[in-house]
Amino acid sequence: MTYKNKHFLIENVSAEKLARKYGTPLYVYSYNKLRNNIKNFQKYFKAFSPMICFSVKSNSNLKLLNIIGRSGLGADVVSKGELLKALKANIKPKNIVFSGVGKTIEELKFAISKKIFLINAESENEIIEIEKIAKKNKKKINIGLRFNPDTDAKTLKEISTGKKENKFGLTKKEFLKLIKKYKDSNFINIICLSVHIGSQITSHYPYKKMLNVINKIIDEADYKFRYIDLGGGMGIQYKKNGNKLNYQKYSYLIQSFLKKNHAKIIFEPGRSIIGDAGYLLTKIIYVKKTNKRYFIILDSAMNDMMRPALYKAEHMILPSKLSKTYVNKIHEFVGPICETTDKFLTTPKYQKLNQKDVLIICDVGAYGMVLSSNYNLRPKPSEILVNKNLSSILTKRQKLISIV
Ligand SMILES: *Cc1c(COP(=O)(O)O)cnc(C)c1O
Repeated sequence: MTYKNKHFLIENVSAEKLARKYGTPLYVYSYNKLRNNIKNFQKYFKAFSPMICFSVKSNSNLKLLNIIGRSGLGADVVSKGELLKALKANIKPKNIVFSGVGKTIEELKFAISKKIFLINAESENEIIEIEKIAKKNKKKINIGLRFNPDTDAKTLKEISTGKKENKFGLTKKEFLKLIKKYKDSNFINIICLSVHIGSQITSHYPYKKMLNVINKIIDEADYKFRYIDLGGGMGIQYKKNGNKLNYQKYSYLIQSFLKKNHAKIIFEPGRSIIGDAGYLLTKIIYVKKTNKRYFIILDSAMNDMMRPALYKAEHMILPSKLSKTYVNKIHEFVGPICETTDKFLTTPKYQKLNQKDVLIICDVGAYGMVLSSNYNLRPKPSEILVNKNLSSILTKRQKLISIV
């Protein structure tokens, strides 16, 4: 986070200048932050050089995907749309993994026709469908089995996926049964065991538990997996002093796991790659003062960035220009949409704010723009990229005429 002469900078450009040039609400991505996140991720795990497939559902911007692909990452997709987008961004089929609990037969056919690297299957019915397609095409198809390790990710319950009550993955019993059933199949080649226990994980302990559980089931299955897909979920710091995942420790845990289980590791990170590289610039429409609190009514809303409304997520909101004058009143930052959950943040005090001031909602690179909608018939914001002194448009602001 950098202020220069009291002005908030994204790379070398002030947020106010960007807001003036492109209008608000505006998604801004930092090219160098994205590149550094990728480099750091690769560095943490370089001891076993994993295959890293970016989770497209966290951000599906075409140009960002292209940068991510050129940086050496593949893609983890969860729909035909995401698969098409990854291909359009020039990510090679051999670097694409298809996840998801409800892939349709049409999606499976399409993925197989594109010869993608791996389909992570989550139910017996899905494998039966894949087998039918394989028989028809007279070929053997590589699949992974997604296992539900019944491990608590210790994150928000809305973004936990690895507990037995969640819809994801196969139970231990099913998993073992399917290995037995398909290990000598002529059409299905189980090459991977995959897991993904949830998102925004900030401690290595859930991962440690998960690795222990996988270790046991591999022994029980008595089967050699060429790949172990550990999913994503690495958390970022949304709050100044928030917990931070210790990548070094996670990496060591995996290294010791690999001593016994020789396999290539796959990761599917989303948030940790793009989360803190994105900002949402917004302008204050009104400051509405009541006895108890000040409502700061912004020109961005839950349709632009849904995480607070959807998961009660809290994102830091920073002023584009620092001031020393503080107002000791509760400040509630809200959008103009007619929903009480259209609220970003409540703080006990804030610097003095005025109509038209520009604010920065931080860490919105992941699960930001992808969750935007036209609710209240509001056009979707534009997205831009900043690289040092330069800015360029990634996606144009939606025109009202295209939604009305
Ligand atoms: C959402 C998802 C991811 C990415 O999770 P992050 O927390 O953004 O890293 C990876 N794998 C699967 C199967 C997912 O559903």
